[in-house]
Amino acid sequence: MVDCAPQSEIANQELNSTFMNQAILSIALATPLRRTFDYLPPAGISAESATRLQPGARITVPFGHSERLGILVEVKTQSEYPANKLKEAINILDQTSLFSHEIWQLCLWAADYYHYPLGEVLFNALPVMLRDGQAARAKQQRAWRLTTHGKGLPQTALSRSPSQQQLFQLLLTQDFVSREQLKSAEIKPTTAKNLVTKGLAEEFETPITGTSKINPEPETSLALNPQQQAAITALIPALGKFHTFLLQGVTGSGKTEVYLQLISEVLAQKQQALILVPEIGLTPQTLARFEQRFACSVIALHSGLPERQRLDAWLAARDGSAGIIIGTRSALFTPFKSLGCIIVDEEHDLSFKQQEGFRYSARDGAIKRAQLENIPVLLGSATPSLESRYNGLSKRYTVLKLSERAGVANPPGLNILDVRNETLTQGLSQQALAAIGQTLQRGEQALVFINRRGYAPTLMCHSCGWTADCNRCDARMTLHLGKKCLHCHHCDQKRPLPPNCPSCQSKSLITLGQGTQKLEASLCEQFKHFPVIRVDSDVTQSKSAMQELLRPVHQGEACLLVGTQLLAKGHDFPRLTLVVIVDADSGLYSADFRGTERTAQLLLQVSGRAGRADLAGQVVLQTHQPDHPLLLALREKTTEDWYQQLLAERKLFSLPPYSYMALIRADSTRPQQGEALLARLRDRIDHEARTMGPLPAPMARRGGRFRNQLLVQSENRSRLHRVLTEAEQWLEQDKQARQIRWSIDVDPQDMG
Ligand code: ADP
Ligand code: ZN
Ligand code: ZN
Repeated sequence: MVDCAPQSEIANQELNSTFMNQAILSIALATPLRRTFDYLPPAGISAESATRLQPGARITVPFGHSERLGILVEVKTQSEYPANKLKEAINILDQTSLFSHEIWQLCLWAADYYHYPLGEVLFNALPVMLRDGQAARAKQQRAWRLTTHGKGLPQTALSRSPSQQQLFQLLLTQDFVSREQLKSAEIKPTTAKNLVTKGLAEEFETPITGTSKINPEPETSLALNPQQQAAITALIPALGKFHTFLLQGVTGSGKTEVYLQLISEVLAQKQQALILVPEIGLTPQTLARFEQRFACSVIALHSGLPERQRLDAWLAARDGSAGIIIGTRSALFTPFKSLGCIIVDEEHDLSFKQQEGFRYSARDGAIKRAQLENIPVLLGSATPSLESRYNGLSKRYTVLKLSERAGVANPPGLNILDVRNETLTQGLSQQALAAIGQTLQRGEQALVFINRRGYAPTLMCHSCGWTADCNRCDARMTLHLGKKCLHCHHCDQKRPLPPNCPSCQSKSLITLGQGTQKLEASLCEQFKHFPVIRVDSDVTQSKSAMQELLRPVHQGEACLLVGTQLLAKGHDFPRLTLVVIVDADSGLYSADFRGTERTAQLLLQVSGRAGRADLAGQVVLQTHQPDHPLLLALREKTTEDWYQQLLAERKLFSLPPYSYMALIRADSTRPQQGEALLARLRDRIDHEARTMGPLPAPMARRGGRFRNQLLVQSENRSRLHRVLTEAEQWLEQDKQARQIRWSIDVDPQDMG
């Protein structure tokens, strides 16, 4: 064969060799494109100094017709594009990386594992203010401190000017006086200026430190019971190396106390702790428990926080001034000066998996991060996921068990009520109503749990059978009486209540089934002398609203709570002694293979609310399926055996955790588009991994889009990921795919 390269290649080689001393910046942008972009250093930055730029720094670059913020991934000497085709970057925002080595590695892993563009993953890991190009520092304020000369003066040196003397005294007792403090001491700024003129003080800028207060008198730890002690004895020697622990303890067994004592040791070793909690698990009480215990700054991170505060928390964790960060999913990416352990509370909770965009699992990410940081990670739950149980059985995780309630509380009594052929009043049996009445009469509290918010699931015409369907989704619209509207909980569309049937004009519109509002109305009627408090996402848009709402509950008044799963976790109500589960049936027969697992979690969590202190608790569970294996197991207290059975079933059908899954979704505005795309994709990959579909999603139409999905499955994790990489590349370049919204969901939790 003749050794002869094509002309263009020779030209390229020459070009590249001419630019051998060139520095090329490889930059990640927040775009759906799964690639980085090459730029030349900004004008005025030599190739030499460009090589010293740190990956993880932000750089603005020209992109299309606009300017975009990017993150430097690498400084290279060569590009696959000729250097004269490359544009110059515009501005370097950070001299150092915004990412620690471990978080950088975590992002690389996540982009790879979740098959999501690196640029999106990196930006996702930053607080919004940093994504917007703001400086990575706390808000600054003006402040004054004494000069050496000033420090040397006698205490009464300025007694001739009372205001200057006042400020001088203040400056002698503290490091500096901020503008705020000046104001509250009613000292004029000119007074400070005068001290500066005299050379006694100097003006400088100092960060405004957040509002986080430090508790001067932390409470002492509880004396641990033997099982808690065994857990702590296993955990403490594990500090300083990577290992995963699963703390499986029934509700009220004192898991939080174990977290607190582990953290206490971490803090004693001058390290920090990260606690991840489910979205609705971060209650003010949870936070208060941590603040009461430790004399360090405890910062909560959640989606309701203003962006400035989020950035401040990020900074405080990074510079080590925050000892403890408690946060929801995205807190996983918080940088720490010295992280000592990660705790994932309620590890089974669905909200740890992001369901949109970057579909990562914060629980699994926490384990990866702990591995990268070489620290232990503790997963806690009363109802661990089957995945974690399996990892416990196979000894990858160390299981620590707390099988009894801590302190004085006893497990609640469970009464499974067969309501077949019973007369129900708004869904409640006579027995349940009587139990509620007795509880209130005793001056205690009861919770009625129903899994649907709104007044009623839907409206129906009694004359012609018309139902209020959403015209954009395959779903019924929920009736909300307060707002006098029909609301689709899937696409958020709202419509006014029709005065009569839109189909036959009849006036006899009736409600079907019931939601929290209707139940609330009926309970108000029946228990007139007691407050009835409804808690669902319609009334708890803000955290403070929730606190206000729950005040009678915390004050220990006899009252009745009506709520959705918002109430199922996190709360500790000492006087709540009765939980009524209105309908256990709907979750028992679900199309999703995780359906029964989720139902078990929900029932056990809700039941766990009853009888948390010295008062005995009782759970009344209404069902039409009293012989369902899960309910039998709950009654016989053999849920552990039932979980074993569930695992055996998963094994038999080769479902997770015995296999690995991904769901490739395609939503299109025209009916067959997404399905056709997925069918072509399937034909390319089905020789390498098992596929199922394309099938319409359980809700085939949502928000006006037709939804299809292709399930890809393999017993071999790396094979699954090879196939997904291939799918990802193919979808990126396919012309039709560009008109379709597609996504890859690795380890999908919600098959809808
Ligand atoms: P979990 O987190 O498992 O639901 P908690 O840690 O909230 O359980 O404990 C439940 C209750 O038991 C709390 O009121 C807590 O103060 C109390 N408690 C926990 N551990 C002990 C202990 N060792 N001695 C006495 N009371 C305890
Ligand atoms: Zn009608
Ligand atoms: Zn809808």
